[in-house]
Amino acid sequence: AIPLVISRSTSLGANRGLLVKDREVYELTTKSDTMILDKTGTLTTGEFKVLAIDSLSSDYNEDELLAIMAGIEGGSSHPIAQSIIEYASEENVNPVDFTSTEVVSGEGVVGTYQDTEYKLVSQKVYGKSIDIEILPGATISILTKDGEALGAVSLGDELKETSKELMTILKDKGITPIMATGDNENAAKGVAGTLGIDYRANQSPQDKYDLIKSLQSEGKTVIMVGDGVNDAPSLALADVGVAIGAGTQVAIDSADVVLTQSEPGDIESFIELSFKTNSKMN
Ligand code: ADP
Ligand code: MG
Repeated sequence: AIPLVISRSTSLGANRGLLVKDREVYELTTKSDTMILDKTGTLTTGEFKVLAIDSLSSDYNEDELLAIMAGIEGGSSHPIAQSIIEYASEENVNPVDFTSTEVVSGEGVVGTYQDTEYKLVSQKVYGKSIDIEILPGATISILTKDGEALGAVSLGDELKETSKELMTILKDKGITPIMATGDNENAAKGVAGTLGIDYRANQSPQDKYDLIKSLQSEGKTVIMVGDGVNDAPSLALADVGVAIGAGTQVAIDSADVVLTQSEPGDIESFIELSFKTNSKMN
């Protein structure tokens, strides 16, 4: 039988947009000492604005680059994709027609246009340095054609309002936050610096998974908070996996807790609820 107090707390959770799949997570949450947080879409809104498009090839101007970028993003549901497509439409630039596109989770998009392979990927995946003006805190993706860089797009994203507050409660509960992001050093440092927390940049989905594994092997109890397809393996591995947002089904399926409203403030409510539930049980 389920103790009454726990079932009450669980339904209370559901009313606030918290879905708790397994009651054990309340206890595990109160025992947790580390929280790994994804950046994009979790701590930040994920509503990117295109800040600049820079050409890296004399054969392409900015509008031509934008047309290719918007075309290749047609195959992606990443927040970056949406912002590039919207920006092209604002600039009256028509996306070119890709014959095929494929999303590489945590890396970017690959596609074929006029029998040529194009990629729009993170700086880490591109792997070489590029000669553009680096805007503070910007996320940067690089467009390549047959491996050669044609141009770069710089994008800006904002912190969610409740992210800062969440850091205060984590500190209060003895949970150390670490932000792990696939984004570049510059962007990661901007967000983590504002929040005053530790971070890891240029993290592939596998790196995030390995980070949790190594913390667990040191005896840490780890909560992972993420939203994307790329976070699913980490959400499943963590002691408590929290999927934020109604976005990605895979993330939701892999998590123990789902916050349907995408608010870091709801993580705070969930933690408070865990402590309340647990103290009533003991
Ligand atoms: P995060 O870990 O912050 O959620 P992701 O793992 O989703 O970030 O992405 C890591 C990086 O890969 C992004 O910062 C971006 O440079 C690149 N990237 C991912 N998806 C796309 C896309 N659809 N278009 C362009 N770049 C992308
Ligand atoms: Mg993400």
